[in-house]
Amino acid sequence: MMCALVSILWAITLTRIDNEKQLALDNALSNSRNIAAIISANLEEILSKTQLYQQIGKAALDGTSQARSYLSPTYLDLSAYLRVAIFNANQQLVYSSARQTAEPELHEVVRNYASHHHNNAPHEAMFIGTSMAQHGYSWRIPILMPITDIAGNIEGYFTTILDLGYFLNAYKNVSQSSGNRIEIFNNSGIQLAELDGEMLSGNLNFADSPYVRFLYDSSLEQVINTARPDETVTHIGIHRKLSQYPLAITVSRTPESILENLEDTHRNYIYNTFVASLAILLLTYGLIRILHKRKVLYEQLLYSEREKSLLIEELEQEKSRVYQLASHDYLTGIPNRLLFNEIASAEILRARRSRNLYAVFFMDLDKFKLINDSLGHGVGDGLLQEVAKRLKLILREYDLVARLGGDEFVILVSEISSESRVAEIASNIIRTISEPYKHILGHDDITTSPSVGIALYPRDGQTVDELLSNADAAMYTAKKAGRGTYRFYDASLNSSAARQLELLSQFKRALRTDEFCLHYQPKIDLHTLKITGVEALIRWQHPKHGLIFPNEFIALAEEHDLVIPLGHWVINAVCRQLAQWREQGVPLVPVAINVSVKQLQDSALTQTVTQALATYKIPPHLLEIEITESCLIGNFDNAAEVLKSLKEEGIRIALDDYGTGYAGLSYIKTLPIYALKIDRLFIKDIRNDNSDAMIVASTISLARNLGLKVVAEGVESKEQMLHLKVIGCDQVQGFYLQRPVSAEQITPLLQQQTLELK
Ligand code: C2E
Ligand code: MG
Ligand code: MG
Repeated sequence: MMCALVSILWAITLTRIDNEKQLALDNALSNSRNIAAIISANLEEILSKTQLYQQIGKAALDGTSQARSYLSPTYLDLSAYLRVAIFNANQQLVYSSARQTAEPELHEVVRNYASHHHNNAPHEAMFIGTSMAQHGYSWRIPILMPITDIAGNIEGYFTTILDLGYFLNAYKNVSQSSGNRIEIFNNSGIQLAELDGEMLSGNLNFADSPYVRFLYDSSLEQVINTARPDETVTHIGIHRKLSQYPLAITVSRTPESILENLEDTHRNYIYNTFVASLAILLLTYGLIRILHKRKVLYEQLLYSEREKSLLIEELEQEKSRVYQLASHDYLTGIPNRLLFNEIASAEILRARRSRNLYAVFFMDLDKFKLINDSLGHGVGDGLLQEVAKRLKLILREYDLVARLGGDEFVILVSEISSESRVAEIASNIIRTISEPYKHILGHDDITTSPSVGIALYPRDGQTVDELLSNADAAMYTAKKAGRGTYRFYDASLNSSAARQLELLSQFKRALRTDEFCLHYQPKIDLHTLKITGVEALIRWQHPKHGLIFPNEFIALAEEHDLVIPLGHWVINAVCRQLAQWREQGVPLVPVAINVSVKQLQDSALTQTVTQALATYKIPPHLLEIEITESCLIGNFDNAAEVLKSLKEEGIRIALDDYGTGYAGLSYIKTLPIYALKIDRLFIKDIRNDNSDAMIVASTISLARNLGLKVVAEGVESKEQMLHLKVIGCDQVQGFYLQRPVSAEQITPLLQQQTLELK
């Protein structure tokens, strides 16, 4: 780029110099042309005077004495002519302006002329000779004009000497100021006179040289195109022939003299261009240097960045290695107490927002010390590694297993649906760890059994430390109770867990022997207090434990695939009850059935329902289904499909426990739901808790906009009911209005149709 710039700069400068030179040469040439034109015009004028002389000469020859006095050049005021002489036809001097008796020089000219021209030959009007001077005055030229009669016969000769030096002197200033050299040639190529500045010279013979070739050309004027024979440099100038006389003028200058004046300017141009080029080059160099430096700097920076990031990476690796070492058990590779505390604390935070249980299991191997002492530490270590492996295998990936040291392991299991599930996990751990161990350092049949203590969040502790120490305490209780067992920290749970297992074992039998029964709770229209429907709630009439509520066995049934047969039983029982009421003439209202997640995933649900309706000839509008939001999580499409088919059968669907899940109203809108049942959690504090009241109020208005009915659950006081009435709730259900009761107990209310409140 820079090079191009410099080249352009130089090209411009050089062309400019060239152009200026050319212009100067052109100017000089036209100047020379002008001077040549002026001089030739003057010379022609002077020569024309000779004709006048010739006329006077002729008269003088004829004897007119007066004429002679005219012939004096001084008289004629023509100083260019030195003297005049007239010869008769016999070449005798007739007149001499110098009053000489003889004019040898001029006589010579006459003789020469006469010897070359015979009488019968045509005469030239004017013959111009060459200088006859031996020394100096070479510019004094003889001129001869033959005087003839009418017939052309020679009568005499008019001769004169023209001082071309004198003539040229008039141009001294011109020559000096313009620098032009002025030359006068005769027509045979002799240079008669030359004026160069102040210098006069003449009489140089250039005949036959290319310099004077112009003399033989037809054109009057010509540009000089060759050097003078005695010179090497071709001049700039003009050859110009006189039109009337055999003379020519050359006005010329040397190119140097023309270009001389420009030299300084041109030197300046070159100097300036050179300085500019240098500046550009220096600038470029500077720029390149800066760029180079920056590049080097950038590379250094990049390099140090890379170094830094490598270092950071190394540090990170080192950190994670140290962390791994510090946070993991060296023997089993599972987390140690440190990491357990860290992760468990984070998990506990999450547990605060969950409705499910979080459990810490504290496990200790029975008789481990014995194995260690008798079979050696190698076997003990191998056993611990195997135990860790088995624990990881039976737990979910996101459950946390850690070794606290020695034979103590601790496990955190999150999101457990029920206490019975916790008990099951504990049983599973005990069963798995108690299985014989094979191939531990050549020992094939090592057995151990764990004792497990369980602490539940939040009831047994709010922090990891609390939970750990309570689980530890529970573990000691388990050990005391006999090895290979588990114990809850909350002693009451030990029996309830045991009861869960008992209930589970009796569940199928209970279904067969009709130990289940339904209680009914009415839903009331807030404005008319009329019973708009009843909800069927299941109870287990246990032969040993009495009436058991669904909280205790629904989750159990769900976990063990018993909820579908249970649901089946409920659907049939409800239809049977409706048929019975119909027989008794009780006014019928729709009965709502609660349906759980698993049931909704069962595509046979619709069929079960329609079959039951058909068996007892119950119109479908008398059956309502209550689902919870949890039913929609997971396989939403399937659930939506089942709901759609139920709706198509004419069965209405309500969304139960609304507000405890995550379903937004817009999402609910896509389902065939006719009512929302606001969970009693929000109703409980509706009078005191502003945010609950807000939630309920906005739910009501949003539901209204979506064309949904709103039922408030768990209304336990008059105040709650009034509040709900004010904010536009449609229906209510709760202990304040009526507790769930048996079919026999609800029948009179149904007959009454309207509730009477105290
Ligand atoms: P849910 O469907 O929300 O039923 C309302 C629960 O609230 C009932 O408990 C009812 O007794 C109770 N309740 C009603 N009014 C009040 C009140 O004013 N205050 C309080 N504190 N509680 C009130 P229940 O009968 O123990 O049922 C618990 C849950 O078990 C039900 O909640 C329902 O989700 C489920 N459930 C009940 N029966 C069945 C069934 O046949 N099948 C299935 N899958 N689930 C059932
Ligand atoms: Mg319900
Ligand atoms: Mg509910």
